[in-house]
Amino acid sequence: MSDTLGNRTVDWTAIAVALAPVKVIDEPVLVKKRSRDFFWYSPILNAQLKECFGDLVACPATREEMAHCLAVAYANDLPVVLRGGGTGNYGQAVPLHGGLIIETTGMKRILEIGEGFVRVEAGALMADINAALKPEGWEMAMFPSTQDIATIGGFVAGGSAGIGSIANGALREPGNIIGLKALSVEAVPQEHLFEGEDALQIHHAWGLNGAITEVTLRTVPTRDWIGCMATFNTYRDAYAAGYALASSKTIGRKLCSTVDARIVDFFPRLDGHLRKGKDLLVALVPREDMDAYRALIAAQGGTVDLALTDAEREEKGIPHVFEFAYNHTTLQVLKADRSATYQQIGVPDASDVDAIATMAARQGDDVWQHHEFARLNGEVVAFDLPIIWFNDEARLCEIDATYEAAGFPVYDAHTYHVEGGGLKNADYRHLAWKKRMDPKGLLNPGKSRAWDLVRELSPEDIEAKAGEGQT
Ligand SMILES: Cc1cc2nc3c(=O)[nH]c(=O)nc-3n(C[C@H](O)[C@H](O)[C@H](O)COP(=O)(O)OP(=O)(O)OC[C@H]3O[C@@H](n4cnc5c(N)ncnc54)[C@H](O)[C@@H]3O)c2cc1C
Repeated sequence: MSDTLGNRTVDWTAIAVALAPVKVIDEPVLVKKRSRDFFWYSPILNAQLKECFGDLVACPATREEMAHCLAVAYANDLPVVLRGGGTGNYGQAVPLHGGLIIETTGMKRILEIGEGFVRVEAGALMADINAALKPEGWEMAMFPSTQDIATIGGFVAGGSAGIGSIANGALREPGNIIGLKALSVEAVPQEHLFEGEDALQIHHAWGLNGAITEVTLRTVPTRDWIGCMATFNTYRDAYAAGYALASSKTIGRKLCSTVDARIVDFFPRLDGHLRKGKDLLVALVPREDMDAYRALIAAQGGTVDLALTDAEREEKGIPHVFEFAYNHTTLQVLKADRSATYQQIGVPDASDVDAIATMAARQGDDVWQHHEFARLNGEVVAFDLPIIWFNDEARLCEIDATYEAAGFPVYDAHTYHVEGGGLKNADYRHLAWKKRMDPKGLLNPGKSRAWDLVRELSPEDIEAKAGEGQT
């Protein structure tokens, strides 16, 4: 088995032999499957990425095996894409230039659970981490709604916030990532420890600047969470109630999301459980605060349609409430109609209910609102992940421009460049560490536009650009 990589031919059979004893996958159908993530949410990314595939998948079970994979890649100048569960939305785990995919899911040990922290291998699934924490009285401070199939390494490298962020902030906030270890791509890969603030050098770098082997995360005391769904006559009312819950000083919550009634129509598994045609507030509230939660919903003009423990929910055959929040909302719509897509929009002032209603009116009928509330630097913030009925790129640009003109920043979900979406500008600290950890530039090539401009500079010169405020 040989294949061309750029303008050279690679003997992938020989590479597979060199990778031994690491397990490899070379069956073309399976390699293709592992070359995809959830980029197909975006019709633009789908057109750009659907024909991008890796050549071989390596499945290390230990950090020593991971180091061996990276050494083989270095020796043979192979592009490398780290892959956890492959649930990213922007093609983060798609090999643009072919090469070796390193799937981390075999590195899944939970190494230590202590007072307020958990130390795990990078390939551990977050649902497994939460399951291990619960009997010890803890839970993850936040996790994405994909916890059943997504890895902690993928979340730290590619994610930003999730269920729990309304209480505990974004991943990047101090104390949430306590530390991580990552391997360099060199003749003899070295494992580096990044603690506290330094973990941000690797966080959200999309696997461009090191292969994460281990993560230590903040945990919080577990609570008896009740999955709640309340309905309202207007989206305005649902949003106002969401903001009131999100900013409550007395009611605990680890999820607070509002969903336009037209989107709720795409949730068949909630049929018969919710009032028809109503706008929805999804929340997780601790049992001891349920009376206060019910009073808040009534005061805001809503009705609590569902309030279930996990056991009650399972008995009724209803998924977790968070599968109707974050990007699972988009997924529920896409399951029924692939012409939908979404966007990521910041809300300048989460308390300004009028601005939300004005924006709904200003955008056409092809934009349906869905807001997530979170806490950033101690402040309640909201962001919109609207369903957009895709017509063409020109209309998408017009929708983006309408948001931007009203001061709602757009974090473009339709780009595969790390600088294009959530990050907006180049992160030169990430790129300086890339130069240190990956001097040949083998990790996830093509995902950083800025890297191509600075790859010949020293790490110090790249880092200096951060101070210069260059983007
Ligand atoms: C339905 C749905 C809901 C989602 N909800 C959320 C949400 O609530 N919050 C959120 O932040 N995201 C969300 N996402 C995005 C995604 O699920 C999460 O970010 C998830 O944590 C990614 O984990 P993964 O294991 O699937 O990573 P992958 O998709 O496999 O990888 C993500 C990135 O990390 C890199 N990477 C993976 N492992 C390593 C490693 N060991 N070392 C270095 N780099 C590595 C990859 O190269 C890639 O660039 C959602 C996506 C979907 C489809």
